[in-house]
Amino acid sequence: MHTQWESLANTHILGIAPYEPGKPIEETEREYGVHDAIKLASNENPLAPSERVQRAIAAQLAHLNRYPDGSGFYLRQALAKKHGFTHDQIVLGNGSNELIELAVRTFLKPGDEAIVPHPSFVVYPMIVQAAGGIRVMVMLREHRLDLEAMARAITPMTKMVFVANPNNPTATIVTADEVEAFMARVPERTIVIFDEAYIEFAMGPDFPDALNYIRQGRKVIVLRTFSKAASLAGLRVGYGIADADAISLMNRIRQPFNVNSLAQAAGLAALEDDNHVLECVRMIEAGRHFLYDEFKALGIRYVPSRANFILVDVGRSASDIYQRLLKEGVIVRPMTPFGMESALRVTVGTPQENGRLVKALKTVLGKAPA
Ligand SMILES: *Cc1c(COP(=O)(O)O)cnc(C)c1O
Repeated sequence: MHTQWESLANTHILGIAPYEPGKPIEETEREYGVHDAIKLASNENPLAPSERVQRAIAAQLAHLNRYPDGSGFYLRQALAKKHGFTHDQIVLGNGSNELIELAVRTFLKPGDEAIVPHPSFVVYPMIVQAAGGIRVMVMLREHRLDLEAMARAITPMTKMVFVANPNNPTATIVTADEVEAFMARVPERTIVIFDEAYIEFAMGPDFPDALNYIRQGRKVIVLRTFSKAASLAGLRVGYGIADADAISLMNRIRQPFNVNSLAQAAGLAALEDDNHVLECVRMIEAGRHFLYDEFKALGIRYVPSRANFILVDVGRSASDIYQRLLKEGVIVRPMTPFGMESALRVTVGTPQENGRLVKALKTVLGKAPA
């Protein structure tokens, strides 16, 4: 007798579609026979980690026979100092993705509701579903999180609310005033998770200080990452900030060595490297404006961005344009899985990469000079 694996599976996971990452460069080159493909599909930083960070990683290589520091002491200490908290208010994760999962597994009981904006980071509903939670999807309004509608969706069953700020894939923010009004309506029993993966690109007087809600004793968890502005997506390191009691609960189920020693050393060095972040932020800002101008000239509509990526509307089948861009060696992300049939998400790259994207777009949209 054959036992079907599916009948053995945790029923909570059966409805989950696997996460589809951006297409890798090597795979694209192999399948399309192109060289020098560029990837503008995963919101990575186009700049390599700084020399300082690379040296810190290299210095750890000879010690890889040892397990990492399971408490991540020095990195947590440095993060606590940077943000004005204590080290017991910080938890490290294998990317902030792991911390989303850790928060959900720690706090969400089967049958609890989690409010998830849509379209937003697909990882939130996946993890909620895997934990047996109920996803309450709240549509965006004019490409922005609709905090008013999200507050209205809160019920006595609502355990947590996800606020991606800036939001992925729209690259829009919710403002300090909007968050303040929202927080006034969130009950004590509901946890708000602010996912601030792109905060370095979004800074401005209108951007909320989510950390302040932790200082006020609100049930808030703030997630940050070294994957974007710090150029360390490949190492997998992020962190969460919350009340010490919340962190302590999350630590009960955290894998003891979830953040490896290279990642800890790199994170520590990256924290002393404000210049690198500043350089990236400036480059991305210039890149956004370059791309806006080019999109306007091509008649492509876009959503003004507060992150290192831009949501564009190509006015025709996005999956078709995506395929044709691949043939030009340019990898972007079609938004068809979100039901946005004519939208692409493009990561802002180096000036050279942005130029390649524009040239390829002109070719596939039939607007290249003869
Ligand atoms: C990229 C991204 C992250 C970061 O993920 P890591 O696991 O830290 O690499 C988190 N949230 C959102 C919305 C993102 O787009």
